[in-house]
Amino acid sequence: MSTSWHDLKRKEEIGDSFTLLIIIEVFVNRSLTLENIKCYGFDMDYTLAVYKSPEYESLGFELLRDRLVSIGYPHELLGYTYDPTFPTRGLVYDTTYGNLLKIDSNGNILVCTHGFEYLRGGQVDEYYPNKFIQRDDTDRFYVLNTLFNLSETYLYVCLVDFFTKNTRYKNCQKGFKHGDLLMSHRSMFQDVRDAMDHLHDTGTLKERTLKNLDKYVIKDPRLPVLLIRIKEVAKMFLATNSDFNYTEVRRAYSDSEMTRVPMFFAGGTVLRQVDTDTGKLRIGTYTGELQHGTVYSGGSSDIVCDLLDVRGKDILYVGDHIFGDILKSKKRQGWKTFLVVPELVKELHVWADKASMFEELKHLDIFLAELYQHLDIGSQECPDISAIQNRIKMVTYGMDLCYGKMGSLLRCGSTKTLFASQLLRYADIYSTSCLNLLNYPFSYLFRAPLVLVSLSWLTRLEYNCFVLIINMNI
Ligand code: IMP
Ligand code: MG
Repeated sequence: MSTSWHDLKRKEEIGDSFTLLIIIEVFVNRSLTLENIKCYGFDMDYTLAVYKSPEYESLGFELLRDRLVSIGYPHELLGYTYDPTFPTRGLVYDTTYGNLLKIDSNGNILVCTHGFEYLRGGQVDEYYPNKFIQRDDTDRFYVLNTLFNLSETYLYVCLVDFFTKNTRYKNCQKGFKHGDLLMSHRSMFQDVRDAMDHLHDTGTLKERTLKNLDKYVIKDPRLPVLLIRIKEVAKMFLATNSDFNYTEVRRAYSDSEMTRVPMFFAGGTVLRQVDTDTGKLRIGTYTGELQHGTVYSGGSSDIVCDLLDVRGKDILYVGDHIFGDILKSKKRQGWKTFLVVPELVKELHVWADKASMFEELKHLDIFLAELYQHLDIGSQECPDISAIQNRIKMVTYGMDLCYGKMGSLLRCGSTKTLFASQLLRYADIYSTSCLNLLNYPFSYLFRAPLVLVSLSWLTRLEYNCFVLIINMNI
């Protein structure tokens, strides 16, 4: 269960069972003593309430697509259906040119598509000199961070595909022209965003989910077991953006024995009590003591700490949304964070199944480093590395395709994606499901692995610095 070296070796010996074992593992970025946690906070959607994939994303896609058609988009769009092998979470949409980008944490472009067409190096450079974007230009570049965004991601691709191929429309750089009508990428982005907000705000998506819970929601008998166990040793709250009625129905469906969900908040607003009979908010700001079994709406993470009488570092917050849940709770309150990343199941499977490709990439890197090993700034020799470079490109491409059409959530070859960098930065621990907490005792110490940098992936420069540091006894 721990990530110790011995266990890893043991797991390697087990062979096929290896993937299964790492899927139930909780991974550690920063050490965390479970014994010190006095309060557990849970997000609901995609954390406690787990949706069936790709059924749920397909539903989201169809509702979005139909909404666009209902506001005047061409009926031909109804011919598109959701393809779960295309989108990956964490991609960036360029609202100016309609391109979908996979980037690293600095804004370097790793993959770029226009509709379903993959753009090559030169084409990418034409749009983005240096293959780089200013990702803090959040007005132009929209990060599709959540699992809810997957259906939306695919719809952007379908729209660009449709208008590019349709002869009624003329392609221009910032959109498509039809007579004196310009369908700009920007306006289509806004229409899709509005349609998405509409689905959520009017409750259309929730309504469809509730009508067919078996089809869209995973019912796991281990969930009440986890919540009961936690309730025996710590305080617990649920923090969700969903409204009270939906949360109640979903909670009932999860068969939770946790009969009372003590809290419910969204960040930084007036804290109000919810009338649990009617689901309506009580007027006025709640200023009293915490009452068990009471449901609140609004409030902030500060108020949660005050009401529950805990400090930030006493709380382990479990959520699936790196910005909404994890980053804010960590940055504003220093909460300990557990990120739920369901896609890790696929990532781990590929990692285990395609181990030979990862090995090859590592060997190519080592081979490259060795070619330069005896050269220095005065060397005239210029090794021919083109064959290695081509091979690296081919293996990287082959590896990416094993995950899906936009590749892995976490990497492109050996480069970490923006999502992976944020996961490392903001999640203290992470796993495929919050249910994996069941595999650890409450006294458990999650130890961060001791890494300066991963030795096997060192470049020559990093390797030399590493040797220098060791020699200087720093
Ligand atoms: P949570 O994960 O329990 O905090 O729930 C997330 C909530 O945000 C759900 O109620 C969703 O309906 C809602 N939501 C997710 N994406 C969007 C969006 O793009 N616009 C509006 N609401 C959203
Ligand atoms: Mg969520």
